Amino acid sequence: MTKVLHRALAQDYPVAASGRGVTITDAQGRDYIDASGGAAVSCLGHAHPDVLAAMHAQLDRLAYAHTSFFTTAVAEELGATLVTDAPPGISHVYFVSGGSEAIEAAMKMARQYFVERGEPQRTRFIGRKQSYHGNTLGALAIGGNEWRRRQFEPLLIETHHVSACFDYHGRRADESPGAYGERLARELAAEIDRLGPETVIAFVAETVGGATSGAITPVPGYFRQVREICDRHGILLILDEVMCGMGRTGTLHACEQEGIAPDLMTIAKGLGGGYAPIGAVLVAGHVYDAFAKGSGLFQHGHTYLGHPLAAAAALAVQRVIKRDRLLDNVTAQGAHLSRRLTERFGNHHHVGDIRGRGLFQAIELVADRGAKAPFDPKLKLHARIKREAMARGLLVYPMGGTIDGARGDHVLIAPPFIVDSDTVDVIVERLAEAVDAALSGLG
Ligand code: PMP
Repeated sequence: MTKVLHRALAQDYPVAASGRGVTITDAQGRDYIDASGGAAVSCLGHAHPDVLAAMHAQLDRLAYAHTSFFTTAVAEELGATLVTDAPPGISHVYFVSGGSEAIEAAMKMARQYFVERGEPQRTRFIGRKQSYHGNTLGALAIGGNEWRRRQFEPLLIETHHVSACFDYHGRRADESPGAYGERLARELAAEIDRLGPETVIAFVAETVGGATSGAITPVPGYFRQVREICDRHGILLILDEVMCGMGRTGTLHACEQEGIAPDLMTIAKGLGGGYAPIGAVLVAGHVYDAFAKGSGLFQHGHTYLGHPLAAAAALAVQRVIKRDRLLDNVTAQGAHLSRRLTERFGNHHHVGDIRGRGLFQAIELVADRGAKAPFDPKLKLHARIKREAMARGLLVYPMGGTIDGARGDHVLIAPPFIVDSDTVDVIVERLAEAVDAALSGLG
């Protein structure tokens, strides 16, 4: 019997034994196409020789040195690379071990920024409904995933939530995308006014929504208005690109496509591509300066900050992406994936929406296309699709998202950046079979 406390206690998980390229093989010798990179993590696929070589070399040199005693060449080099490639204004990088840790650090950094500047009355964060920022208590509090929050609600810090930019569900039939974006911006501005602008620390948003509702792209202009509103009130903008960032949408950072830069940005999954746990907060110069001119210390820290092995993995992953011009492949294969999904699901009775950017796409399952009505959550359609997909040798990331308080089902497709068009074709074929098998299982 297993002694591991698994995600679902009663579930029998296959044993993942090895991985190569886009394929994971289990202990029974069954192959799975890893079409979600786990949860949009494995951007280079598995066992990339250059990454393994860099990690081995780092291990031979030094596996660990505590950051209260040392920095390391590899962490410095990774930091310099990330700042060079960052959106305008970013001057420093704070390394952590994953996405939730990055959000916690960003929230504390934002709070301390205002303390350093003599504005300690700023205590409030505004996030968005239908968002996910992680499972630690601060990250849960700023997130809007109702199902994940519910039982922990009494433990969470005070946060406030406005509507997410969710074109499929949020935009009215008679509303243009531009007008929808303006309406959402007015909602944010009104919430800031209601709370008192001088009490708000930051607005936190995923640039492209991931784990709650699946590849939710913002309407054009939305984030530019958000940026303006934050600037008007001196409120920081924290963009969470843990899932959508590091090339997943075709540009290194998703916010590049919105024409804005954040004050703080969290990255994680694609940073290390799954070769080692690593996340980071990208820090704008004015935030760094407040610390440098103030206490000179960010009052935070974990044992594994800037872990040399994780930094070596991330540095190698990022070098390969650049050297092999893989973001071009993300854009090209993303367009191919989008075409194939539209061909296969565009007229499907139970697929209400096909959405996303680059190799970050999703389909949303609906009981009724006209009403955009979700299936009964008790049917757990997303879990059925996952089972049917795995039975066909396909890994996709199905979730039951939160839609207007109800739960809807969608499937996220996020293959590694090395994927080719033949593999994309197989992914979509297997997914179509899995969706139809799951639906027919409902009777
Ligand atoms: N933010 C976003 C946008 C995420 O998608 C996730 C993970 N799905 C997290 C934060 C939390 O990251 P982690 O699971 O590495 O703690």
